[in-house]
Amino acid sequence: MSVLVYVEQAEGKFKKSVFEAVSYAKAIADQQSTNLTAISIGNVAEEELKELGKYGASKILNVSVDQLKTFVNQAYASVIASAAEKESADIVVLSNSFSGKGLAPRIAVKLKAGLADGAVGLPKIDGSKFEVKKTAFSGKAFAITELTSANKIIALNPNAFGVKENHTDVVIENFAADIKQSDLGTVIKDIVRATDKISLPDAELVVSAGRGLKGPENWGMIEELANLLGAATACSKPVSDADWRPHSEHVGQTGISISPNLYIAIGISGAIQHLAGVSSSKVIVVINKDPEAPFFKVADYGIVGDAFEVIPKLIEALKAH
Ligand code: FAD
Repeated sequence: MSVLVYVEQAEGKFKKSVFEAVSYAKAIADQQSTNLTAISIGNVAEEELKELGKYGASKILNVSVDQLKTFVNQAYASVIASAAEKESADIVVLSNSFSGKGLAPRIAVKLKAGLADGAVGLPKIDGSKFEVKKTAFSGKAFAITELTSANKIIALNPNAFGVKENHTDVVIENFAADIKQSDLGTVIKDIVRATDKISLPDAELVVSAGRGLKGPENWGMIEELANLLGAATACSKPVSDADWRPHSEHVGQTGISISPNLYIAIGISGAIQHLAGVSSSKVIVVINKDPEAPFFKVADYGIVGDAFEVIPKLIEALKAH
């Protein structure tokens, strides 16, 4: 019995959400008094792989083959499942990221495993009972799910557990995965960035604005604030519906769900459908001229004020530093 964590790389580097998934998997391995093995797929340098030892992974299976240099959903799922079998891992942990959401159900099918996706806490284990708290209904509710199967897959929501250091020595092993041609039906040959902007699903800081901004001509200050902070930009649904901003920036129930460390909501009322996509952000700052705006109820910090006065002052203050 052991725990396996999939460590997703982007251009050979691990993101913070990976260190969080490893920290979480290590805590589960400790609950089970077992070791933690990580599996990395893609070309990741040894130095970067060794970083995982800081968070408790004592063994790393490294798959570094050209065919899997870029993410191929079906093939990655097969490799992770075969690594779980090799390690006799009955618990597989991964981040509930964009690619994690595609991988988790596929691995679950391959391993005939129960799946808790969107986990927000450590499993509660009582005898043979294994329960995981997870988000449900686009983040509007929590569900306690019991995984009754022998194998279990847990996809952790970003920012739900935190990164916890737990230094251990690391052994890196090359894992000769058996890659099936049938898993390589669609292969990404190259990734060309459409923009240099920070990718919204992965962003740690997000500056978001809504209908309170009055029109697309006023997004200059939002972009400037985002640039100064190194943040991605997002918006509410009516803003993208009106074509003030691209649909790729629309967050919420019908848009994308994000969990950044900091979400700054400017001129957004805080409708339940919007909150569904952003409420798991670690820190929420709301700027709204209406003190009764519902968003203030979930805000960690709030500024009651006119965005057209507050934002230029924020920009000025950031430039002064
Ligand atoms: P408004 O509700 O118009 O709010 C504008 C806010 O700006 C107000 O709070 C106002 O006080 C403030 N304001 C105005 N002027 C200023 C100023 N000068 N300075 C500071 N503040 C100012 N919405 C989403 O965002 N994402 C979704 O995924 C989504 N999915 C939906 C799905 C369904 C099925 C339905 C029915 C709705 C969905 N909606 C979604 C829409 C949602 O219900 C709200 O209508 C929407 O979020 C409101 O957007 P808003 O806050 O930008 O605009």
